[in-house]
Amino acid sequence: MPLKLSAEVITLKTKHPFVIARGGDEDYRVVWVRLTDRDGVEGWGEADPSRYYGETADTVLTVLKRLEPHLPRDPFDLEGAEAAFAHAVPQNGAARAALSAALHDLVGKRLNQPVWRLWGLDPARAPRSSFTIGLDTPEKMRQKVAEASAFPILKIKLGTDRDEQILRTIRDATDKPIRVDANAGWTRERAIAMLPVLKEYGVEFVEQPLPPEDLEGIAAVRRKGVLPVVVDESCIVATDIPRLAGAVDGINIKLAKCGSLREALRMVATARAHGMLVMVGCMIESSLGITAAAHFTPLVDAADLDGAALTANDPFVGATIDGGQIRLPREPGLGVRRR
Ligand code: MG
Repeated sequence: MPLKLSAEVITLKTKHPFVIARGGDEDYRVVWVRLTDRDGVEGWGEADPSRYYGETADTVLTVLKRLEPHLPRDPFDLEGAEAAFAHAVPQNGAARAALSAALHDLVGKRLNQPVWRLWGLDPARAPRSSFTIGLDTPEKMRQKVAEASAFPILKIKLGTDRDEQILRTIRDATDKPIRVDANAGWTRERAIAMLPVLKEYGVEFVEQPLPPEDLEGIAAVRRKGVLPVVVDESCIVATDIPRLAGAVDGINIKLAKCGSLREALRMVATARAHGMLVMVGCMIESSLGITAAAHFTPLVDAADLDGAALTANDPFVGATIDGGQIRLPREPGLGVRRR
């Protein structure tokens, strides 16, 4: 009997409206996917669609219907299953990532082992996670810094005409390490002008200073040698990495972009082969989505897995972030349960 697929939309609410350079929201519709095998064992995954990459909860539901005929007869055929999904629907990474996570969860549960253990990873090597401060008024940003007191690293969203003021507000409120994400919101001139300002405020690295199509500009920002440059929107899958080598210092992997856990592992290996830093990020997600990404964090240098911590109604319990430190579940599969 083939696997049975069910999908349910969950509306996540953020504690504060979450705003970045290209806008924001406070309601995030994600899709909880369950695959049930003939013995009634369930594998769970989550699709965390982003309109920037052309997905919504509704497109995820449509795409899941198209992917359903490609579910594997044997859930252990992970490589074959993911290849079949990507062949059937080359885009729509969030929808495919949900099925990939659900299959890995199911396999781990059948083998009674957590996914990180199937991959031979040491959970003690998981990095600390940063916590993101979205765009807001100075007063609200100070409040958010106070609320993030348990997180040792902050990620600040920039790409506005008041970036210097935002940095000053944050730096006046905390001594913590700061990372900056411009979400493609700067021009070349603006990015280069911002570099000494970022340096002055003790920023560790800058993420996606320019639009992804301006790789030459991104490389020019990096050549200034002021701060490491990490790309997110410029890097979707492993085959994007060779052309980025030499132009950037690192990449930010997200399951909603790359479409599968195995593709995420390929991205880690490809980036390492090019001597690049590897970071893992997320969308606004529940702990189910976050936990799928958390399982490979022992392989990465930096993590920004605060998506569930930014929500007010997380329906799941899985990987936790304890004083900033990512703690992987020890239960089989993804190790996620309902709250
Ligand atoms: Mg980013």
